[in-house]
Amino acid sequence: MILVETRMEAYDEEIVDTDGEFAFETDHLALRGNKDYCKLLKHIVKLEAQKQQVLKDIEELCEAKNKALDDPLSFCEALKLDSLKFPPHQEISEMPDIDWSKYGIDISLENNSQKGKDFPDPEVLVRGRIFTDDKPETFNQLWSCEEQKRLEELLEIYPEEIVESRRYKKIAKALGTRTTQQVMSRIQKYYMKLAKAGLPIPGRAPRGITKNKNKKIFYKKTTFFPRLHVPVKMENPDDSCGESQDIPYETPSGNKNMLELLKAAKAQRLLDESVPVYQTRTTCVGCQKTGFLGARWTDNAGTDYCTDCLVRLLPTEKLIPLRESS
Ligand SMILES: [Zn+2]
Repeated sequence: MILVETRMEAYDEEIVDTDGEFAFETDHLALRGNKDYCKLLKHIVKLEAQKQQVLKDIEELCEAKNKALDDPLSFCEALKLDSLKFPPHQEISEMPDIDWSKYGIDISLENNSQKGKDFPDPEVLVRGRIFTDDKPETFNQLWSCEEQKRLEELLEIYPEEIVESRRYKKIAKALGTRTTQQVMSRIQKYYMKLAKAGLPIPGRAPRGITKNKNKKIFYKKTTFFPRLHVPVKMENPDDSCGESQDIPYETPSGNKNMLELLKAAKAQRLLDESVPVYQTRTTCVGCQKTGFLGARWTDNAGTDYCTDCLVRLLPTEKLIPLRESS
């Protein structure tokens, strides 16, 4: 018994030397003496050594960086004199040439992974967009209710400037959670929302909002909302704030109703283009015309508007469009 154990220990610690190549004593027997296996082992050992060197180099560079930051003038002097010493470039050792088909490994797959060498890290996606180290922490993160609210305040605190980016920079700094770029992009989207809702924009309308006859009719600016400062809901589809971001309107649901009304008016107008109807017996309370084109907007109590007057006057009564004559 004792004999066997001693024999086993001796075997375990045996240094395997096959054809002058080295291997680990714990290796599977089938691998011993395999040339490709030996090549790979050597490669791994080499990479390990290179990795250790890289870690040392990083440490050295960090120290050099701190030193340079402490005394930038001396650093510049040394740079001029070319007396700075940095760790030399390391050529990472190439994979050994192995015929993988012998082991039933698909070489085409192998080649694909080689192509990926330029991208050592797998792509990190934030809400479907690629995140990289140079991106800010809040990259592609939804704006919180607080951030939007603060942004609106800051837009009033920091007036427009000749160089807009300076304004965005100040706002970003005051906001504290977003980069200038993010603030700029957010403001542009916010302006776009305001423009689409026909609200006054603090600044010129961003490009992309085309001048269009219909829009002029349906997006009248001044008559839309009695109050100048009306919060606009910014769409954050899966935002946790959800409806709470929809800051209550000054006139409860009034703006929303107006927009609904305008949308409905537009739909009626489109309908009129293909299927015109005339209100032969109805008189519009706005223009006093009888026999006007399109739907009559009625409260079913004797008040009827034509579509033109509906858009022009934006009556507050609850009206429904009827294409049939009264
Ligand atoms: Zn009318």
